[in-house]
Amino acid sequence: MHDLLKQILEEVHPLIGQGTVAQYIPALARVAPDQLGIAVYGIDGQLFSAGEANMPFSIQSISKVFSLCQAIQHSGEDIWQRLGHEPSGQAFNSLVQLEFEKGRPRNPFINAGALVICDINESRFAAPTLSMRDFVRRLSGNPQIVADRVVAESEYQHRARNAAMAYLMQSFGNFHNDVETVLRSYFSHCALSMSCVDLAKAFCFLANDGFCKHSGEQVLSARQTQQVNSIMATSGLYDEAGNFAYRVGLPGKSGVGGGIVAVVPGQYTICVWSPELNAAGNSLAGMKALELLSERIGWSVF
Ligand code: GLN
Repeated sequence: MHDLLKQILEEVHPLIGQGTVAQYIPALARVAPDQLGIAVYGIDGQLFSAGEANMPFSIQSISKVFSLCQAIQHSGEDIWQRLGHEPSGQAFNSLVQLEFEKGRPRNPFINAGALVICDINESRFAAPTLSMRDFVRRLSGNPQIVADRVVAESEYQHRARNAAMAYLMQSFGNFHNDVETVLRSYFSHCALSMSCVDLAKAFCFLANDGFCKHSGEQVLSARQTQQVNSIMATSGLYDEAGNFAYRVGLPGKSGVGGGIVAVVPGQYTICVWSPELNAAGNSLAGMKALELLSERIGWSVF
């Protein structure tokens, strides 16, 4: 496995230079583009990695999976009264559908849906930012994880689209807490700095019927775990979820920091990172690396 990972990184390396690092968040635009790392973590605790697998990066939308799991844990099925679990077929920060569909986001992995989930969690947790930080620390077994304040502040300063979505939902009665407070929590989750190894470990419960070995906690039931994986498979890569299913064939979640996490149910979690993105906002080299890995091992769930 170790040799295979090294070889795949060498094969995808020429793609670096063909994408663009996220520009709309100034603090992310400064990240060195020529970085590449991968980690594979087995439910038996085996870890394989190559490249810059221990370098922390901004997890961005990958945090939407953690927020959803917290919401399911603490608010259960009720959350689906506020949003759906259908693919959107739209960009992650699109406002168009939200107006047509009366402020009810299609799913928790587009920005509007994640903001509703953060609003739900804001009502449940006394300190949502700390609860999230402690949650990912427990799941990954890494007590050093922190949110990058510079990234969070940069996002807040450039919050116009996310703020527009939240206020639009508020106008439809689908937002209950102070918008600016919820935006702060949301950006702090997105600004968590984690490495490929941290993320592969933190996602392992999703490959293991909801049980996290590091913390010894049953994070979700086996049924809830299947449901989260199904939403990742249909909506985890925004309007490129179909392409990801076709090429990689696994539940996955991406972020504009260039990370992508994928789950091989019952076996492994994988995290790949390369900051340059394609037009849909997904890591260009990361997608290719996952495609090669899944194809060579025969991991597609389809
Ligand atoms: N923080 C980013 C935003 O809200 C997350 C987007 C992403 O990773 N797709 O725009």
